[in-house]
Amino acid sequence: MEPVYLDYAATTPVDPRVAERMAGCLTLDGIFGNPASRSHIYGWRAEEAVEAARREVADLINADPREIVWTSGATEANNLALKGVAEAAEARGRHIITSCIEHKAVLDPCHYLMQRGWEVTWLQPDSSGLIHPEQVAAALRPDTVLVSVMHANNELGTVNNVAAIGALCRAREVLFHVDAAQSVGKLPVDVGALQVDLLSISAHKLYGPKGAGALYVRRRPPVALAPQIHGGGHERGMRSGTLATHQLVGFGQACALANLELAEEAERILRIRNIFLEEVLADPGAQLNGHPSQRLPGIANISFAGVDGEALLLSLRDVAVSTGSACTSASLEPSYVLKAIGVSDELAHASIRFSFGRFTTEEQARFAAARVQAAVAALRG
Ligand SMILES: *Cc1c(COP(=O)(O)O)cnc(C)c1O
Repeated sequence: MEPVYLDYAATTPVDPRVAERMAGCLTLDGIFGNPASRSHIYGWRAEEAVEAARREVADLINADPREIVWTSGATEANNLALKGVAEAAEARGRHIITSCIEHKAVLDPCHYLMQRGWEVTWLQPDSSGLIHPEQVAAALRPDTVLVSVMHANNELGTVNNVAAIGALCRAREVLFHVDAAQSVGKLPVDVGALQVDLLSISAHKLYGPKGAGALYVRRRPPVALAPQIHGGGHERGMRSGTLATHQLVGFGQACALANLELAEEAERILRIRNIFLEEVLADPGAQLNGHPSQRLPGIANISFAGVDGEALLLSLRDVAVSTGSACTSASLEPSYVLKAIGVSDELAHASIRFSFGRFTTEEQARFAAARVQAAVAALRG
């Protein structure tokens, strides 16, 4: 029997309805053309398919299709946002504000910029993983050019009050970037209401394919952004390279499905997660990390006191989960996110992120909860 997949925050399987559309964009009888080919129907059809997908992505976040720049994923979108703004705004200032619990795809570009002379203010989350608007307000300086704060944290599921941060950045005329890789498709995201200037999305976190993503770039007021990939001037010069028609069509379809099903799905996943939590948190040594209510429906990060995390993972062979984030689980260092919210090293090592999604059943949640309870009981001896 395959283990139950409870690692939807690391990646989601492609929805079969998405896969079907993608398959129609590969072979000679499908939409395989180069969207940039202007001289024949193969190219025109591909362009049409890619532009329809662009509208579907834009619709999900209430943007204009012209504000969507295709990328290879949220990592590239974050790199384009951070380095692109930094480079374009260099003359105005070299100060950036972000949080120390961002995804590595924000932290690493910030470190890169620091090596090149930019100053970065790292905001500390509170014990629930929230970054407060007042912290951002206090950190703003005359030379601040960009604030980057994630919408939903990938390890904890905690959801920031992005609209309040957006309002104060707008008032101070400082650009605001949001890494929304975990929230788009899971929570309503409206770039107008959130007052963001740049927002990163990843297709494979919302039942689309890996290797596709987008950066939302506001048109009014316009955002000056220096391209990071040159070669042909695709995407209005902001990101060159032949567009991957099948990936983008899949991404678009995934967004269209999310738009239709989001509310109902969030409710269903929340119900399943709560069934799981009710059983697992019955153990007084188990503690839910992150914010109790301001959180994604699908993520539950739990610390198990008195249990070795590695041993727990090893004994949970029937459940596919991750300790901390997928990117750091290979190292022995405990999660920097858990450390930042004040979880001890020992407890951080004994923490597991369970993440639920579209194909998780109630039966799977109950099965996983029973396995966790049995494993924890066995390890406590
Ligand atoms: C997954 C993830 C990313 C990276 O996205 P890719 O599309 O895999 O490059 C960035 N930020 C957050 C919050 C994520 O969850």
